[in-house]
Amino acid sequence: MRGDPWFEHLAAKLRRLRREGRWRTMRGVDGPLGPEVTLEGRRVIHLAGNDYLGLSRHPAVIEAAGRATRDLGVGSGASRLLGGDLAPHRQLERDVAEFKRVEAAIVFSSGFLANLGAITALTGAGDLILSDELNHASLVDACRLSRAETRIYPHADAAVVAHILGSSPPGRRVLIVTDGVFSMDGDLAPLAELMALTEKHRALLLLDDAHGTGVLGDTGRGTAELGRVSGPRLIQVGTFSKALGSLGGFVAGAEPVIETLRQRARSFIYTTALPPAISAASRAALGVVDDEPWRRLVLLDHSRRLRRFLTDMGYDVPEGTTQIIPVLVKTETAAVALSERLLAHGVFAPAVRPPTVPTGKCRLRLSLRADHTIDHLDRVIEAFARAASKTTRRRAVG
Ligand SMILES: *Cc1c(COP(=O)(O)O)cnc(C)c1O
Repeated sequence: MRGDPWFEHLAAKLRRLRREGRWRTMRGVDGPLGPEVTLEGRRVIHLAGNDYLGLSRHPAVIEAAGRATRDLGVGSGASRLLGGDLAPHRQLERDVAEFKRVEAAIVFSSGFLANLGAITALTGAGDLILSDELNHASLVDACRLSRAETRIYPHADAAVVAHILGSSPPGRRVLIVTDGVFSMDGDLAPLAELMALTEKHRALLLLDDAHGTGVLGDTGRGTAELGRVSGPRLIQVGTFSKALGSLGGFVAGAEPVIETLRQRARSFIYTTALPPAISAASRAALGVVDDEPWRRLVLLDHSRRLRRFLTDMGYDVPEGTTQIIPVLVKTETAAVALSERLLAHGVFAPAVRPPTVPTGKCRLRLSLRADHTIDHLDRVIEAFARAASKTTRRRAVG
């Protein structure tokens, strides 16, 4: 392949990734997902998933999926607009609108596609998007595809948003885009401030609540419930694939916004509808969120406890209150080494490296589950105590 324009280029690219410590490997996970999984033949405590409430194996969710498959088959057979509009999809959209207490909702095949569809359908050339620098990759790509002018503001900095809005001509259509819970940092967007600015400047606020839905707020409605924001200018994106244990994404909000997505969102129109079993499972999962509030309470309780222990041990864990716990380790090699040491002690917590996080901000991203027991938690804490070393302890470094 010497001199070949493609294969030489690809080989060099791959060599560079290895050299920079950015090589990614998939670890084969065997057996059902749960608080523990089997990894390369060993039982380990699972701190790497987003099935926060353990709903992917909830009996009611499995039963709903099985029933829909038996009744309706496996595939939906077509896109929603061309014959794939099966009852579970329509019912799920009604349930989501009710769950989020808004006028309407639309379901996409994934959260990634929901973000792509929403932002590209709502904005175009001449519009302005203000996007947090730590927003999820799907939001970043959606902004690029939209052809709108996109300005990236410093993380969670509502003052910069205010400044930009203040200096924009009146009547300019502006869409503010933010994660609710930032997926690699576990911190929250300054939602009240952003919502107030949105109202003041007659903008729209798109809140990607992939990690808040099902977990945060008094009744698990998500970051908007927690931050007490609502109204027709708020557009909530969510996913069924995290706390709800299934698959798919949604957008919930005012009827004209949702109708625009039905008419215009290409990632909704030009793709096959989800399997009916998946929509049925997601509906059941929304019901479990209401019926079993203990799940989110236990999850958040566990998370607080683990944060406190890690901080006391000297690990660099930023302040936070959510179920996503970052342990900052700076370099690629140190992050991978800590992850490997934890694995040796029976804890699965993969390293997160650039480009997923900024250079110099490598970390382990820990996420607990409602079905982790106190015994699991004690074993995790023990593993971190044993894995601690000069490179990972803030005390020793700073
Ligand atoms: C996971 C995630 C998505 C994508 O959701 P999927 O349903 O997995 O495609 C979008 N936004 C954020 C913030 C996420 O964490």
